[in-house]
Amino acid sequence: MLMIPGGKKIQNAGGFEIFLIADYQDQDIRNFALADALVLDWQQPDHTTALLKKIRSSFIESIYLLPVFIFNADGIVGDTERALSDGELSVVQEEPIVKVIRQVKKRREDFTPHETNSSENRILTKLFRYMYTRDKALSPEVDVMAHMGYEYPLIRLHYPAGESMEMLKILRRGTDNDFFQGTFVDKTHICPSCHSGHLNLREVCTQCASAHISSENLIHHFVCAYMGPEGDFMTKQGLVCPKCNRQLRHIGVDYDKPSVIYRCHDCRHEFQEPDITALCLNCKTLTPVENLKEIVLDKYVLTDLGRDAARTGIKVEGEEREFTIPGFVNFGTFLTFLRFEIERIKVSGKESQMGSVSLNLPARLRSNRQQFERVVLDISDFIRNNTDSSDILSFASDNTFFMIFPEKGDTAVATMLNDFRNSIEKLLVNTFENEPEWNLTAQFETLNADTEYTALINQVKTI
Ligand SMILES: [Zn+2]
Ligand SMILES: [Zn+2]
Ligand SMILES: [Zn+2]
Repeated sequence: MLMIPGGKKIQNAGGFEIFLIADYQDQDIRNFALADALVLDWQQPDHTTALLKKIRSSFIESIYLLPVFIFNADGIVGDTERALSDGELSVVQEEPIVKVIRQVKKRREDFTPHETNSSENRILTKLFRYMYTRDKALSPEVDVMAHMGYEYPLIRLHYPAGESMEMLKILRRGTDNDFFQGTFVDKTHICPSCHSGHLNLREVCTQCASAHISSENLIHHFVCAYMGPEGDFMTKQGLVCPKCNRQLRHIGVDYDKPSVIYRCHDCRHEFQEPDITALCLNCKTLTPVENLKEIVLDKYVLTDLGRDAARTGIKVEGEEREFTIPGFVNFGTFLTFLRFEIERIKVSGKESQMGSVSLNLPARLRSNRQQFERVVLDISDFIRNNTDSSDILSFASDNTFFMIFPEKGDTAVATMLNDFRNSIEKLLVNTFENEPEWNLTAQFETLNADTEYTALINQVKTI
């Protein structure tokens, strides 16, 4: 039986490993990898928040995707904590927990292992998987503790305060690649130098930029046409015109207040339109409001492409995921075999062949990654079953099958590739019904004493 120090097992009909954590002393998230769900007691909100953030910050799938609930009988759970959890429970009951456990388990079955050197892709893939397992949208949350005043839960955990622009950039990349669909939620303004959203906006003197200014109404006396600050009209008898000494009685009838006048208490300057500047409460930079950086806060949901990316992980050019196909070697190994074969041929004076079959499928037909991989595996099976065990097979660039046929003879190879093409065509027609936009090319090169490895490789790489 799984044990978690400081955790109390919650018995349930499904036999799941659900633990209530009320003791936060020395909790190590690695202990949670085999749990099915956690319920965190909100009695110590700071500890609960810290542990929840630690869990969601992990890059280990079984930890960051762990269903986590907050057990909260009477306190108030913050928006960020609620967004990072799978829900709040006022009583510990198994149904809502088990429902999430089952959904997350089921969704995780769709995932294929994902390796990447790019931290951006790692973060996005993680985010997509979190959203995919929960059917969750990513919404900006108001948070006074956040550098921008808003934060995007989960992804925010990977960007320290000073890197909020990087975080927004990666979200934009998700939208640009059609992984996300964004809908407008709000706008905010941030300091252009440190990107803090904590700003003090105030009206200042147009001459000396002091905020020590005050405003007063201007009064216009219709009868004598005198106009001056309201203070000049104030007397014990009410408003009296300083120019003609008449009493002012009815606004709109004998006088009006056409505008406001500002006075600076520092430089005595008088003006009608003050400037507005923002003092950054974080870095103390002063910025005219028109120069603040405007940030659009969108809410993001996964598109079909985004759900695919969640299942397979994000791939970028130059970082193709190596496809593991039984009986096939990776392309690096293939090139080594090719070099050996060319060396061998030079010595023996015989001839061998290198063949290739390229699938030219539009991105649209490859966007359903699972379907595409099934097609590739079917073709691989077919090729493997119709070649000799001494032939070297590889699949590269997500589109081309490569084969080395030691001393097979040009005619035999030409016939074989022709058969491959016919059979693969049938398979593609069956898979992509009514889709005219793909084509297949099959070709081969004779390897003999004149073959230059480098020239051949350059040619191969452009396929
Ligand atoms: Zn001034
Ligand atoms: Zn007057
Ligand atoms: Zn600042």
